[in-house]
Amino acid sequence: MPKDTPSMAKNKMRRCLGAIFDPHPSKTEVDRLWGYFESRCAYCGIMINRKSRTGHLDHLLSSSVGGSNNIHNHVLSCARCNGDETREEPWDLFLQGKCENSQALQAKKKKIIQWMSQVPDSEPSPEVRAQSKSIVKEAIENFERSVEKMRALRRNGF
Ligand SMILES: [Zn+2]
Repeated sequence: MPKDTPSMAKNKMRRCLGAIFDPHPSKTEVDRLWGYFESRCAYCGIMINRKSRTGHLDHLLSSSVGGSNNIHNHVLSCARCNGDETREEPWDLFLQGKCENSQALQAKKKKIIQWMSQVPDSEPSPEVRAQSKSIVKEAIENFERSVEKMRALRRNGF
């Protein structure tokens, strides 16, 4: 087991505080997602065996552009499509590349849009989002100050 370093603790604090603000989907929600997509990858349509643990929850709108962890911002994705996820392109363009014809594209797109449209409109505003970021920043800065104080205490001997 690695020892807990200050930088590991900072990452944990970020994740922990972030999950309070924007919780990850619950097990019940994940079950609903598997049911809605009928155990198939929302992009390529391949059947995924849930027990194989190769199914992924893929963010439709990535968190780097403000996408939330709400279950309706996720689709079921196979490992392969999820692996391609370093993609910068919007999900519908990505989907286009995964469909053999426009009929398949329309059907898959409709299914995803229907799922997404169930997102409650209680999404946090950009202002509230910025507030949550600044709370995390404050916590990290406080922690860094504590680390420095502790190191100074140690340096000064007992
Ligand atoms: Zn796939």
